[in-house]
This record gives sequence, C-alpha cells and structure tokens, in this order.
Amino acid sequence: MATETQKHLVAASEKYAESFDKGHLASPPAKKYLIVYPVTCMDARIDTTAAFGIDLGDAHIIRNAGGNAKDAYRSILISQHLLGTKEILLIKHTKCGMLTFSNADARKIVNEHQGKEVIGPEFDFEPFGDLEEGVRDDVKWLKENGGVVEGAVVSGWVYQVTDGKVKQVV
Ligand SMILES: [Zn+2]
Repeated sequence: MATETQKHLVAASEKYAESFDKGHLASPPAKKYLIVYPVTCMDARIDTTAAFGIDLGDAHIIRNAGGNAKDAYRSILISQHLLGTKEILLIKHTKCGMLTFSNADARKIVNEHQGKEVIGPEFDFEPFGDLEEGVRDDVKWLKENGGVVEGAVVSGWVYQVTDGKVKQVV
C-alpha cells in the first residue's frame, strides 16, 4: 500500500519526466565546484538551485544537517578527487535548527524516543552555538585536514532564510 508521500513522488516524477531533456549530461560537474552549498543544510526552506543559480549538471550539492563539513567529507573527497571539482562553497543558514540544541539535549531525545540508550556520550551531533563561528570552524577544518585538493578555493557563507540573500563570512 503506497503512502501519500510515495504517491506524490510518483505523480511529480511522471510530470517532471514529460518535459525532461537533460538525460545527456555528464557526471563530472560542468562548473567544477561543489557546494557544501556545496555544504549546505538539509533545511527544507532552502531552494539551492534557485537561490544559488545552479543549473542541472553544474555542481555537486551536498546537503546535511547544519551544512557540516565533517559529515560531507566522504562526498567532498569523491567530488574533488574522482569527479574533478576545484572549489568549495560552505554555506550555513540563519535560524538553523543546529543552533537550538546541545549534544546532551539531542542524545536525551533520541534515547527517550527509542526507550533505551542507542546514542552514547561520545556521539557528536555537531551542533554549534554561533552561526558565523560555525562557518569559520568548518572552513578551517577543510583547509587543514589535508584531503581537499591542492589549490582549491574554500569559502564560507551564511544564507539568510528570511530574505533569501547570502553573505560571505570567510
Ligand atoms: Zn539548518
């Protein structure tokens, strides 16, 4: 029995496919960059392709909770070393849920939901208390950890969910 969400996916896909004509695009991104916005948050309010001017085939977009560099690292390595991207834009956003809890809060909620301890004290949800500091920390981590390709430009940004603008932090 299909759920409403599954039916929505099938109907939307059928409509999309009717006019889809981009089946010829190559796998390596045409514009050679990745966004972690290329790390941007999984937040449902961000329309990455429209807000950041990315056409189909242009760039890798890696989305996760908080636009977290460490969480995106596996994908960044593949994007840069196997698929040739040269630049990284790391974008976090205002009013991010990641600013609203601590590791202890998140651990307690998960364990209470599950009715047993599934997340121990060593687990890091990577929350951050200050938005711009979070951007700076992630860019610093990417530049210092050794896996980003030589000469890659790494910049850090904040996307403002209330007015749709981006602001460069670093
Ligand atoms: Zn967020």
